[in-house]
Formats: sequence, C-alpha cells, structure tokens
Amino acid sequence: MKGFDGSNLKFGYNKTDFNVRCEYKDGKWGDIQVSDSEMIPLHMAATCLHYGQEAFEGLKAYRGKDDKVRIFRMDKNAERLQSTCRGMMMPEVPTELFCEMVTKVVTLNAKWVPDYGSGATLYIRPLLIGTSAQVGVHPASEYLLLMFVTPVGPYFKGGFSTNPYMVTRQYDRSAPLGTGIYKVGGNYGASMKANDLAHKMGYSCEFYLDAKEKKYIDECGAANFFGIKDNTYVTPKSTSILPSITNLSLQQLAEDLGMRVECRQVPIEELETFEEAGACGTAAVISPIERIDDVEMNKTYVLSKDGKPGPICTKLYETLTGIQFGDIEDTHNWVTVLDI
Ligand SMILES: *Cc1c(COP(=O)(O)O)cnc(C)c1O
Repeated sequence: MKGFDGSNLKFGYNKTDFNVRCEYKDGKWGDIQVSDSEMIPLHMAATCLHYGQEAFEGLKAYRGKDDKVRIFRMDKNAERLQSTCRGMMMPEVPTELFCEMVTKVVTLNAKWVPDYGSGATLYIRPLLIGTSAQVGVHPASEYLLLMFVTPVGPYFKGGFSTNPYMVTRQYDRSAPLGTGIYKVGGNYGASMKANDLAHKMGYSCEFYLDAKEKKYIDECGAANFFGIKDNTYVTPKSTSILPSITNLSLQQLAEDLGMRVECRQVPIEELETFEEAGACGTAAVISPIERIDDVEMNKTYVLSKDGKPGPICTKLYETLTGIQFGDIEDTHNWVTVLDI
C-alpha cells in the first residue's frame, strides 16, 4: 500500500506537502514552480478580489487495487477552463501546461492519494486568478494559475443513497446569458443564500429552474441533473448550466448500455414521468434524487418510490467509479495511469 487509510477523512480541506504554480506575465506563461506554502502573495487591488476575475476546476485522482494512481479526463477540464478563460477575459491555459501541472502536483503528493478500498480520493483544485492591480473594470495583465490537492473522504459515508431537493424560485444562480456556463466563484457566491435556505428547511440541496421563464430544469445546486425513463437518459440543455464532465461521461456510458440520450429543455412537470433521477458531478459522481419539492407551488415530485437508488443510477455509478478506480476496463481512454 503506497497511500494511506482514507476511511476517516471528511469531505473538506486537508493539508498536503506541495502545490504547483505558474505565472502569466508579459503575454506569456512562465515555468512551473513548486511551493510548500499554503499562502499566496497578492496585491490588494488584484482583479480577482474586486471584480471576480477568477476561475477554478475540480477533478480527482484515484488509487487502484494495483496501487497505481488514475486521473480522470484531465484534458476535458483543460478544455473547460479554456472556455471559462475566454468568457472571463483571461489568457487561455494550454492543455499541455494544464495536464503537466496536474500530473506534477499529484506526483509530488503521491503519498496523499488514499489507498484503494475506502472510496477516499485525492481532489485536485486548479485555480486561475487575475493578480495585477486594476481599479477600473478591466481585465488584469498578470495571472496566477495554482493547483493544490487535498485528500477527501468518500461522499457516501453510509453507502450510496438518495436525497431530497427543494425548488428555489426566489433566487437564481446565473442568468441565461450570464456566467452559468463558466466555472467561476461568482456563481457560487450567488448560490449561497438558496443553499442555506434549502439546508435550513431540511433539504440536501436547492434545485434551480431557468432564470428567465422558471419553466425548465437548470441544475441541482452545483451539480447537473439527469432523469431516466423508457430506456432514455434525459439531461437539460440550457445556456446557464455548467457543462459537467461527469454528465458527459454518464451520457457515453448510458449509450454503451444501449440507452438513448436526449439533451434538451426539460420542463419541470416532466419530473412526474421519470423512473429515476440523479444529480451528477465529480464530488459524488451520482447523487440519486429521492424527491423534489416545489414548496411555493405546493407540489412534490417523487423520483424514488422506495427511497433507494434505482437500478440505472446504480449501474451507471458502479460503472463510472469502476473505471475511475481501475476495476473496469477503460475502453474510452478516459484515464491517465501514473505508477507512483
Ligand atoms: C463543477 C460543477 C459541476 C460538475 O462538473 P463535473 O465536471 O462533473 O465535476 C456541475 N455544476 C456546477 C455549477 C459546477 O460548478
């Protein structure tokens, strides 16, 4: 065993040994630097602090039965960060630089990739911030790309299970032509009130409809939504949803299982017709939905009659986590294997 026992870890920040950094200055990216400090020196007028000129990513490294470490689809995270960079007027991070930094930060912290068996993983957090001083609202001329890692515990402590959600009609996380399609902190800041309200009312998370018409499903908190019916995987299409790499991968696996895949507007009433549904993202992979309460409309949509995860959600979850941990053959070439 090359890692450590991660079964008592929580899903939170745990200190590791190193992070990696790269600065953008004079129109180009510099060399990759290794740091053992958890702090960043920052100008008080940096654009990331005042005008939210920042972006982040989230992906994981998994230790297999063979003790090797697998990183899941990091090229897709690089592409998504490039899209966010274009949206936020930041310099694009080349895929090669992104993947080199991810591989380096995982390799430097290899002993922090939890051993196979508990479901614990190493979470990788790339962060890109505008660092140069600016008082008028303009993009920075200098940037810092930083990547740190933190071992995180299994998302489902008591086993894979379902959760209740609450439709939020009082708050929006993003506008139809806003920044919802980018992975930026501002969307999270905008979601905190709705999330707090949902928790106070006993729900696992808030459930967003499209901001303009409040007719179509957008996202489940900070996760994508999918529903299953008639051998079909249905997921919303919208200009304010963050394109989830987990969702993209589940769509492929659903196709592999002989299911149809539909990516289209999903009216909220259609929730009545789904046999099962889930929220998906890197943290939980799939969080099956028990029910969705539309409190203001006095309506409840039940998505699991017995309160347990349905067979398709379970199959998709087992297949995707199987590929990530190296128990199932990676036929789509999604995984980068490191012998560390
Ligand atoms: C990160 C994120 C997701 C999930 O994306 P993955 O690539 O699957 O981890 C979904 N919605 C929002 C708003 C996110 O920020």
